[in-house]
Amino acid sequence: TFKAWVVEKGEGGQSLAFRDFDEADLMPGNVTVRVSHSTLNYKDGLAMTGKSPVVRRFPMIPGIDFAGTVETSEDPAYKPGDPVVLTGWGVGETHLGAYAEKARVRGDWLVPLPEGLSPAEAMAIGTAGYTAMLCLMALDAHGVTPKDGPAIVTGASGGVGSVAVALLARAGWHVLASTGREDEAEYLRGLGAAEIVDRNELSAPGKPLAKERWAAGIDAVGSSTLANVLAQTKSDGAVAACGLAQGMDLPTTVAPFILRGVSLLGINSVTTPQPKRRAAWARLARELDREKLAAMTRTVSLPEIGGLAEEILAGRVRGRTVVEIA
Ligand code: NAP
Repeated sequence: TFKAWVVEKGEGGQSLAFRDFDEADLMPGNVTVRVSHSTLNYKDGLAMTGKSPVVRRFPMIPGIDFAGTVETSEDPAYKPGDPVVLTGWGVGETHLGAYAEKARVRGDWLVPLPEGLSPAEAMAIGTAGYTAMLCLMALDAHGVTPKDGPAIVTGASGGVGSVAVALLARAGWHVLASTGREDEAEYLRGLGAAEIVDRNELSAPGKPLAKERWAAGIDAVGSSTLANVLAQTKSDGAVAACGLAQGMDLPTTVAPFILRGVSLLGINSVTTPQPKRRAAWARLARELDREKLAAMTRTVSLPEIGGLAEEILAGRVRGRTVVEIA
């Protein structure tokens, strides 16, 4: 047996416990990994609390991403001792997840630990940071550049937002960081934000089109915020949408699309094919400033993570949280 957080479903709904888990109860997979680090993402908060039905199998070990070392492998691509990273693929949702000392998964879900990153750094990045990079790659592919104007990041003090601010600033963008946390202005400037936008300016329903303020956006918030971001995007600009911290709705009109040629780029980090996954990790290893990464990260132990589920959903967790397991 090993220690794990386990979500169970009973008559009273979902419950969460830290308990012994029998290795024989791990789900099928051709690689067993000794997990050394995991992280806390918004989705982990949803899984642990049951606030949204992200857990589709019970009992479930939550935790959507991990770094660790291969223990046994029937996949020729991996051998015992190889350092690996996993994000997505339904781990922590439909497949037993990361908040445990061991995980058994499919080898083709894994990525070798990127050169130049420690397992702790890979999880400081985690799904949130990896998603921020997918957003940046989508903006790059669209062809929008810092010469076209500023870039806005919503939910800037959160995990996706913090990494997005650092990556965009490093890429030469004039970054506007939208946050509801006035006291995190210095933190965000330290990550590379040039200006702070009060999120209240964006969170209430607005006009279909408003004054053009930015050429690009990375949105972790959805709902009216994303609608307002689109309404204030310059002609031919683009916004990468990855989150729903305010809501799953999108009360917009076609005006930004048909009158300004604005593009909305959807980002799904869960099932990204391997080549793009590896490209994103390689870029993260190259382009994410390690001091900024350290400045946005705090580390907790596995027993502590259960207490942070409500905190992240309430928007009270700053930046990234690494879970140290081994
Ligand atoms: P997080 O650390 O909790 O960040 C979310 C941030 O959104 C908060 O820190 C807060 O920033 C802002 N926020 C929270 N509640 C809000 C509200 N009611 N109205 C407006 N802003 C609000 O979470 P995360 O792990 O970075 O994830 C961010 C979002 O991206 C989540 O919705 C998550 O599900 C999604 N996501 C999607 C993918 C994908 O594959 N598409 C991958 C990763 C994450 P401020 O305090 O600075 O305002």
